[in-house]
Amino acid sequence: TQYVYRFGGGVSDGGAGDKNLLGGKGANLAEMASIGLPVPPGFTISTAMCTRYYEEGETFPESVKAEVANGIAHIAAITGKQFGDAGDPLLVSVRSGARVSMPGMMDTVLNLGLNDQTVQGLAATSGDDRFAWDSYRRFIQMYADVVLGLDHGRFEEALEIAKEDRGFTLDTELSASDLQALVAEYKSIVEELWNKPFPQDVHDQLWGAIGAVFGSWQSERAKVYRRLNDIPADWGTAVNVQAMVFGNMGDTSATGVAFTRDPSTGERAYYGEFLINAQGEDVVAGIRTPQYLTKTAREAAGAKPASMEEAMPEVYGELAAVFDRLETHYRDMQDIEFTVERAKLWMLQTRSGKRTAKAALKIAVDMANEGLITREEAILRVDPGALDQLLHPTLDPKASRDVLTKGLPASPGAASGLAVFDSDTAEKRANAGDAVILIRVETSPEDIHGMHAARGILTARGGMTSHAAVVARGMGRPCVSGAGSLSIDARAKVMRVGGREVREGDMVTIDGATGEVMAGQVPTVQPELSGDFGTLMAWADEVRRLKVRANAETPLDCRTAREFGAEGVGLCRTEHMFFEQSRITAVRQMILAEDEAGRRAALEKLLPEQRSDFLEIFEVMAGLPVTIRLLDPPLHEFLPHEEAEFAEVATAAGVDVDTLKRRAAELHEFNPMLGHRGCRLGVTYPEIYEMQARAIFEAAIAVAEKSGAAPVPEVMIPLVGTRRELELMKAVVDKAAQAVFAEKGRTLDYLVGTMIELPRAALMAGEIAEVGAFFSFGTNDLTQTTLGVSRDDASRFLTTYVEKGIYAKDPFVSLDVEGVGQLIALAAERGRATRPDIKLGICGEHGGDPASIAFCEKTGLDYVSASPYRVPIARLAAAQAAI
Ligand code: ADP
Ligand code: MG
Ligand code: MG
Repeated sequence: TQYVYRFGGGVSDGGAGDKNLLGGKGANLAEMASIGLPVPPGFTISTAMCTRYYEEGETFPESVKAEVANGIAHIAAITGKQFGDAGDPLLVSVRSGARVSMPGMMDTVLNLGLNDQTVQGLAATSGDDRFAWDSYRRFIQMYADVVLGLDHGRFEEALEIAKEDRGFTLDTELSASDLQALVAEYKSIVEELWNKPFPQDVHDQLWGAIGAVFGSWQSERAKVYRRLNDIPADWGTAVNVQAMVFGNMGDTSATGVAFTRDPSTGERAYYGEFLINAQGEDVVAGIRTPQYLTKTAREAAGAKPASMEEAMPEVYGELAAVFDRLETHYRDMQDIEFTVERAKLWMLQTRSGKRTAKAALKIAVDMANEGLITREEAILRVDPGALDQLLHPTLDPKASRDVLTKGLPASPGAASGLAVFDSDTAEKRANAGDAVILIRVETSPEDIHGMHAARGILTARGGMTSHAAVVARGMGRPCVSGAGSLSIDARAKVMRVGGREVREGDMVTIDGATGEVMAGQVPTVQPELSGDFGTLMAWADEVRRLKVRANAETPLDCRTAREFGAEGVGLCRTEHMFFEQSRITAVRQMILAEDEAGRRAALEKLLPEQRSDFLEIFEVMAGLPVTIRLLDPPLHEFLPHEEAEFAEVATAAGVDVDTLKRRAAELHEFNPMLGHRGCRLGVTYPEIYEMQARAIFEAAIAVAEKSGAAPVPEVMIPLVGTRRELELMKAVVDKAAQAVFAEKGRTLDYLVGTMIELPRAALMAGEIAEVGAFFSFGTNDLTQTTLGVSRDDASRFLTTYVEKGIYAKDPFVSLDVEGVGQLIALAAERGRATRPDIKLGICGEHGGDPASIAFCEKTGLDYVSASPYRVPIARLAAAQAAI
């Protein structure tokens, strides 16, 4: 097998397509050389060698030694210099480079090939003693640090002392003889720490560096990085050996880094920095302040030192031409490293540049408009998940921040408001027009109304998938969760952190993108939804097949969803409406009633309230389908806890408190999520569903009469497992519909269908479809019931499960396509066999997850439904899945 691939001087054994074999850096060096760009000659030892190196006990086969010798000969032939030649020495850099750029790998070693003899040759051929000794000094320091793993502090110390002794502050002030003395000092430090003299044989140097690159693949740093980024250990790294070019040969030399477009805004302008008379990492190391690349950028920043465009106009012109060439060639924004040696330009690296979400959007749209890429490619270039950053207000980067503490960035966006410590107060103050931040130790379903009312949510406990985090993301509220250093006293309405206090009514700001919690108000900037965003979304809409709906249950959520392009509501939960303060007493009265008559009396009070809920939602969603799920959660979630609450219900229902308490105790369940909930409520208390159905149809007809655009209610029965359940519940809904139609003297199109959220329902889908006109896959519950894992309790072990590779990703975030996916595919198939035009959709967290959406596309579902703020993400992901 061949392990060494040459590049430069008109030879390219590899190319951009060989990233797996040559690593990103090596493949692109070969590619640049092959399109005629000035690349210092060199060779790449392939990633296959890395794998073999480990298989064979960290040794190199003889064949590779010969290949490397050929590689060196290739460089020598082109440069006319010999490796280890005391007269005119060839120096090389040794650079690591995996398939993906990977911190944790060995740092680059520059100037390799210098020793006590060759340094003289370098001095003579360059005519610059100082340069030669400085290069040698840098080489020893780098090699000792990177390859030998010696304490670099000792070398820096020696350098500092050398400067101090002579009263200098800058490295550049040291003369050739100062540096020569420093080299001697460095060599003795190496000998002291390493117990061996600094290697003088250039081949030993080279193999030492090559071994160190391969060795760094299994370093702790690299392993950790791989684990965090799902990079397989068997990819291996490549090693690049390349002729040195010198940016530190005086004032006509320089080194720099550049992006072909602005990586933070996406603006079509070269963007970068360079340093005159400098080498390698000097630009990023911050030793001297780098200079701007372009005159425009320099002027915009009001900076003095000449830009490259001004200081070296000719080379700059060449460089700009290379930028354009690379962009057209790679058809993407490039991140570039270059060096100028005595006015000659050399390219050292290119790769697709990392960019912010905003820049990604702009660059994709611009490049499509420039004709560089197609619209479909533009769609594929933007990570749907990253859009999240763009859809929320963010903190003004220029504003000052008084940071109190930091928690987890649980839901993006930033918000300021008055601190409140309970949900009722949050609702009250919000109704009175205040912006509030709800601060809780942790949240529970009873906080939903407070979370809705708040601009943002802050909790002291709970992770990224805690109740607060999940609900906040769903609602599009910024959330910082698990801010462990906060001590919250909800009773006293105060929170303490680091010796400071925040009381109810004090202004606080949270940044859900960073997890920061700040005192006072920090100004925010609103997202820009038109422009490039609008353009890309329109392109996405043209190619996607899947429809995108929203999970929304308030008029505000519905409005947000429509603004974001939702084509209907895929899940309108009705239980949240029941939690509202104005009706919770009636709800409790209903639950605690001893008999149907008692329940009907309470439902009577709820009917007008529920009708007005739907009225507003239907008005916003006029003409679009709205899937309404009838009451689903276990009743006990609504039960009163406190004495006062019991008293209130007792008065409303005209019964005594003790009876109520007995009844509440009877409702206790051991496993409520598998208990008396979903359609089981409707089966045992049909009057509840009857009231809800009536409210739906009365509201729908009212909107139809008023606006002419009738909504299309899709009444959804939750937690069905058998055909008979759905039959019974459909009969209740149909009866209510007929009654309302008769009363109002007009009819309306509507559908009755079910959620598929139990494995039995999926298996029996063929039969269930005889009754239901649509299926909506309730993947939250379907995941819980299929995996036998409770979502609310999963956080304790699920992270370990993901770490140990039992599940690749949290199955509540990204659909378990292998397992749960089978049930969905099977149910879809059986449902369609019975009823070819059955509508199939997915609701639940997964509806906004790109990987899950790709599965929905493959399975041929009709729509996905996501929380309002994830609608654009879903639109883009659906388009990508369709391409
Ligand atoms: P990284 O992967 O950390 O970017 P590189 O291998 O690109 O590391 O090396 C870092 C820097 O070292 C380069 O940006 C370049 O400035 C310098 N460098 C590497 N190889 C050479 C070379 N052959 N000649 C001159 N400078 C080099
Ligand atoms: Mg680099
Ligand atoms: Mg459910």
